[in-house]
Amino acid sequence: MLVVLVLLVTVAMRVAIVTAVVYLLLPRGPLCPHCGIEMAPLRNRFFDRLLPALQRRWCLECGWDGVVRRARGSGLGAGDSEPPPSPESLVPNP
Ligand SMILES: [Zn+2]
Repeated sequence: MLVVLVLLVTVAMRVAIVTAVVYLLLPRGPLCPHCGIEMAPLRNRFFDRLLPALQRRWCLECGWDGVVRRARGSGLGAGDSEPPPSPESLVPNP
């Protein structure tokens, strides 16, 4: 019985290590890993519901399409773009 338990623990540890390595290998944030411009987020029910830390994105410039890590501070709403600047900051100073 102890042997089965040890084998199950080692298998679970392998799965955890592989999952962590794959997660760390994914590009982070909304910038394209090839051209560096901000990519458009794609809606994906699987990632939105089961893996909210990941997000599918598409680069409009080079066509790269893949899964990225969601940058910190971004919610689950539409897009990760920053809020628009306030009207006061758009008025040029005389
Ligand atoms: Zn690109």
